[in-house]
Amino acid sequence: MILNHGVSCSQGEWVWVDSGTEVPIGARVKVTDTGHQLLVDDEGKEYKLSQKEDSIRVMHPTSVEGVDDMIRLGDLNEAGLLRNLLVRHRQGIIYTYIGSVLVAVNPYQELPLYTADQVRRYHGRRLGELPPHVFAIADTCYFNMRRHNRDQCCIISGESGAGKTESTKLVLQFLAAVSGQHSWIEQQILEANPILEAFGNAKTIRNDNSSRFGKYVEIFFSKDGVIEGARLEQYLLEKSRVCHQAMEERNYHIFYCMLTGMTTEQKRNLCLGDASEFNYLKRGDCVVCDGRDDAKDYTRIRTALKILTFTETHCWAILKLVFLGNMTWALSSPNPPQPKCLTYRSFMTNRERVSKPLSSEQAADCRDAFVKAIYGKLFIWIVGRINSAIHKTPTNGPKYVRNSIGLLDIFGFENFASNSFEQLCINFANEQLQQFFVRHVFKLEQEEYTKEDIVWKNITFNDNTQTLDLLVGKPLNVLALIDEESHFPKGTDVTMLNKMNQVHAKGNIYIPSKNTHDMEFGIRHFAGVVYYDSRGFLEKNRDTLSSDIIKLIDTTTNKLLRQIFEAQLSAAETDGRKQVSTLSGQFRQSLDSLMKALSICQPHFIRCFKPNDNKKSMCFDRNLCIRQLRYSGMIDTIRIRKLGYPIRHTFKQFLQRYRVLLKTTVCDPKTAVIAGHDDWKIGTTKIFLKVQLNLDFSVQVKMIL
Ligand code: ADP
Ligand code: MG
Repeated sequence: MILNHGVSCSQGEWVWVDSGTEVPIGARVKVTDTGHQLLVDDEGKEYKLSQKEDSIRVMHPTSVEGVDDMIRLGDLNEAGLLRNLLVRHRQGIIYTYIGSVLVAVNPYQELPLYTADQVRRYHGRRLGELPPHVFAIADTCYFNMRRHNRDQCCIISGESGAGKTESTKLVLQFLAAVSGQHSWIEQQILEANPILEAFGNAKTIRNDNSSRFGKYVEIFFSKDGVIEGARLEQYLLEKSRVCHQAMEERNYHIFYCMLTGMTTEQKRNLCLGDASEFNYLKRGDCVVCDGRDDAKDYTRIRTALKILTFTETHCWAILKLVFLGNMTWALSSPNPPQPKCLTYRSFMTNRERVSKPLSSEQAADCRDAFVKAIYGKLFIWIVGRINSAIHKTPTNGPKYVRNSIGLLDIFGFENFASNSFEQLCINFANEQLQQFFVRHVFKLEQEEYTKEDIVWKNITFNDNTQTLDLLVGKPLNVLALIDEESHFPKGTDVTMLNKMNQVHAKGNIYIPSKNTHDMEFGIRHFAGVVYYDSRGFLEKNRDTLSSDIIKLIDTTTNKLLRQIFEAQLSAAETDGRKQVSTLSGQFRQSLDSLMKALSICQPHFIRCFKPNDNKKSMCFDRNLCIRQLRYSGMIDTIRIRKLGYPIRHTFKQFLQRYRVLLKTTVCDPKTAVIAGHDDWKIGTTKIFLKVQLNLDFSVQVKMIL
């Protein structure tokens, strides 16, 4: 059998077959007892070879068994990367490199990979010396920080449920172990997690412990490499969850933990009953989460709060406030008693302030806004308190040096059936991180060529600058228009959308709404087109509480409630009309400072992958994974690499590998010529090739001295 590439095909031979799937799939030639030749693909599907002859290519040997570092693949393309992850996943190998980037495929099962022995094994070894591992990345961060006195950061990305938070915890665990003191501060840093997760994580359909906020943790080390403190930054907690949960989803863990973990006596003191009695907790028709022990978690949270020096009074104040929202529900319906601000709205006419009753729907919105605001502010306050316990400013004077390792665990790119303002913010953050990633890969590539004295110039790479320009760069960019309209008292989602359509319809990144009734607009993101439903944008972006509610808060004697709204209360006092910053404004600001912080660090990247949507081990969904390969920047990585000479071998490796094909055994590779291949370069320590030399298919390789 002769294939279209002129190579014979026999029993057991591996090929790529184009079977109408998005990318070619691996398949093996099988000869039946009756002498028929079949192809059996990676998913077990069989085809007659004769039917597929036109669409098969011989597989490079590196793709048959898979490699530790995908940059070494002979078939350096989407199909190659995908199959590499697949064959490793089948062998239970979850970590793979692509250059210095770590790809981590969620195993959805406990693996014996994170023991103290493994920590010792990976500590002090170079990247690539041992099989790929998240500890290897953590150790590289630690080693580089100490060796070069340079701050490091680790950007951990992936979609919900891909394993970002687990990876972050593993890096932290490794750093705590190797920095070697087991100090109080180290314990405090580790214990911040259960608190953050209690208040900021929830069960969703994608992940039983889904983080509903982004975080950046900076860990500070003394010059001896000992952990000295840490600082947490949080981004965009999903406040809507406090009032609404989709089917099979829950509110934040803390609610359920309190209700199952507290004694009857304690609950009575707070007037609490069962989770099913609370409207805000049962929206998703799911109050228990299999595999989570809420009562045990409650004890854990209380311990953690203690370790982070929250006093008993604080704890009770927090717990009381957590449920205040649920109480408000009772107060605002059906017959409004005292808190009039929830059922009436006051406004200024020309001469006086008047009150108008709200419709029941408006009243419900008003109540929800109040409840969301309390929870959101409480979360920010808790993070602030944690920081005051773990973030010590150095006291040893201005000369004091300390280094840091930052860990970014942030929501990945989102494209749902319906996308709103939150998705726009999240995808904007991902555009920035993507640009950061691509530029880093590009820079590394350039540095490699410079180091090897190879000319690599006039190479450009189209990154996502255009999309970022549309979002925040150009005059009248999308985020600016949203903000501007949010400040207009008369601005509505419709007027905002009209303006965006007017200004940006001509460009090729913005997709205007189809007609005057269509409330959607689209944006071409690096990871694909996302359509956003503009309804509710302004309300969400304004993120303000009515002045009536601020007044209500001003009458409370609840100290913590006053404290978390301190800024709003004092703003109302000084100048009620002062422009408060919008949600996107605040987010942009914190993102700007994040990007600034990242830009002075040496970055490392961990790309977390979800193998399937069902939280199942040993199940690999090819379509899901190809999508993740694309938007995690892996395809960009190979595209950049392929702009130059993707295949590299040190002289030694090259000789070892190709000696059999050489006419001579001793040679000076610097003067080598590879016959039949003019697309190659000799660097100072490596040979650079445009395409992989193929041993099995006897590409003529000769080296002439
Ligand atoms: P993300 O933060 O990306 O949304 P998580 O880190 O919370 O995802 O991971 C989701 C779930 O997947 C975890 O609760 C855990 O059950 C499982 N998981 C993730 N990473 C690992 C791992 N390295 N080993 C075992 N299980 C893991
Ligand atoms: Mg998470």
